[in-house]
Amino acid sequence: MKNKVTKRHWIGIPPWIIIGAVLILVPIFVFMTLENIHRQNENTTTLMVEKGAALIRSFEAGARTGMMGMMGMRGGSFRLQKLLMETAQQPDIMYLIVTDSEGTILAHDDPAKIGKNYGKGLDLERVSSSKEVEWRQVSNPDGADTFEVFRRFSPTGRPFRRHHGKMMPNVSRQPPKDLHVDADDEAQLIFVGLDMEPVEIARKEDARHTVVMALILLLIGFAGIVSLFLAQAYRSTRTSLSRVKAFSDNLVENMPIGLLATGRDGRIASFNQTAESVLQLSSQQVLWKRPREVLPRPMWDLIARLKTERRIIVKEIDCPVMAKKTISIEAIASFLEDEGGEFLGHVILFRDLSEIRHLKREVERSQRLASIGKLAAGIAHEIRNPLSSIKGFATYFKERYRDVPEDQETAEIMIQEVERLNRVIGQLLEFARPMSIKKKPASLGALVQDSMKMIEGDAHRKGINVHVKSVSDMEEVSIDADRMKQVFLNVYLNALEAMESGGTLSVELHRDDAASNIEIAISDTGTGIKEEDLPHIFDPYFTTKSSGTGLGLAIVHKIIESHGGTVRVQSQHDTGTTVTIIIPCSREASVL
Ligand code: ADP
Ligand code: MG
Repeated sequence: MKNKVTKRHWIGIPPWIIIGAVLILVPIFVFMTLENIHRQNENTTTLMVEKGAALIRSFEAGARTGMMGMMGMRGGSFRLQKLLMETAQQPDIMYLIVTDSEGTILAHDDPAKIGKNYGKGLDLERVSSSKEVEWRQVSNPDGADTFEVFRRFSPTGRPFRRHHGKMMPNVSRQPPKDLHVDADDEAQLIFVGLDMEPVEIARKEDARHTVVMALILLLIGFAGIVSLFLAQAYRSTRTSLSRVKAFSDNLVENMPIGLLATGRDGRIASFNQTAESVLQLSSQQVLWKRPREVLPRPMWDLIARLKTERRIIVKEIDCPVMAKKTISIEAIASFLEDEGGEFLGHVILFRDLSEIRHLKREVERSQRLASIGKLAAGIAHEIRNPLSSIKGFATYFKERYRDVPEDQETAEIMIQEVERLNRVIGQLLEFARPMSIKKKPASLGALVQDSMKMIEGDAHRKGINVHVKSVSDMEEVSIDADRMKQVFLNVYLNALEAMESGGTLSVELHRDDAASNIEIAISDTGTGIKEEDLPHIFDPYFTTKSSGTGLGLAIVHKIIESHGGTVRVQSQHDTGTTVTIIIPCSREASVL
């Protein structure tokens, strides 16, 4: 069992992305949060200071009204104490203290503390010499801290001294310098203690809120980065997937081997170009059909065998294509499975063996011809010498028996037979000798026509129709014209001999630009060749005719071979024969 299930991250994000996002986002949000909290604290402080200052101002205003027209502090201090206690009733005020410049408490919301000293640790001198509001935070062991606002206390303004009985509303515009220039104006200080508890609570609440918001924003930012990354990863995966798919589609479609695949439902799901040309079926004809309905029997037999045998099958099969033709195919049939070993269908890879078999036969034939040729040449040589002696003696006897006509005739027959034998041996020797070819540019079309003229008379006498279809503008190719004429004549003569009772001889020239070949197909409607004779027709001395030499096609083969071409013979017994001569017309071939 295959165990190919690959381990996958549930989310598919590389750790460096997460680390990077954290490294960037966390400092930003920490900084922002701290900044926020700091600003909130500052705001609170400002608010508290303002609150304290307002309180002091209103207290001063109250004190001023109460002291109007009064001289000295003795009489005013009681009123001040009362006003102070009343003011200190306000909920947020922890305490309210008025001291002199040395810190001795002049008025306190807790009357028991009057006369005691306050303001330890403060530079009271400095505070009393300025009109600025100052603040500090006084820690309180029992509870929340106290926010203390303090400044110089000036209930009596200079304006009131100078212009008795007249109230100047714009006290605040009095320059502070004037206030302490006066020697008898004894400086006083006022301290307001504000309860920080509600502020602290609000501040904590704010801080918590800020942190929570920051965390939420952090999460959103993080999610944003991650989703951006995922979107990007998804997009790149999709594009690379579609690229891979396009590539594999092209691969399947263009591979030089036939591919046929069925899906899970048993219908044909893939059928590539090579499969189309081997089986002579178009993909529209077969796609999404059942193999049994459209494929030749040996093919769907293979699929059926796969189902029962459950193993890869390699087999050579003879497959009928079109109506009559049968081709041999080498097929490999197998299962299609996915990574997890789940069944997806069947696949058959196949290739046409006809071409290979043909080439094999061609090679065998060439080898056989070569060895027969050598043997024949040796024998012919041995026979030739005695033949000339025999001929000499026969001539002698012919002279000698001049008076006896019968004997003279016998001698004459001997001479003729020897000559015939000599001719045959000459032919054989010529066949066996390496053929000399003199190539010159010539038009094959013209050669076909010329050689046809030589047999036209014979053809008419036998009642044979001659039909030549050649391409007029065919370029000249480099060939040995005399030898080629010999080729055409030999083939035409065979065709005429096969059509004793009439028929049609047709010649067709065709230029195959893709393969840079010229094909000459010579067809007759004669007796045809028996299947068992077909492998031997190119052998020298193979003949089925009483007066045949059996050298015609052997010579044809030899000439075409030395032109770098091929000869193919297709024949159906009692129907006719087609001899196809293929001559290369590429530049390289014509130089040869
Ligand atoms: P020959 O013509 O002297 O017999 P060939 O080499 O030309 O020798 O032909 C060999 C044999 O091939 C012939 O005897 C004949 O049986 C067969 N043959 C060749 N061409 C044809 C044809 N067009 N139709 C029928 N048989 C043919
Ligand atoms: Mg012949």
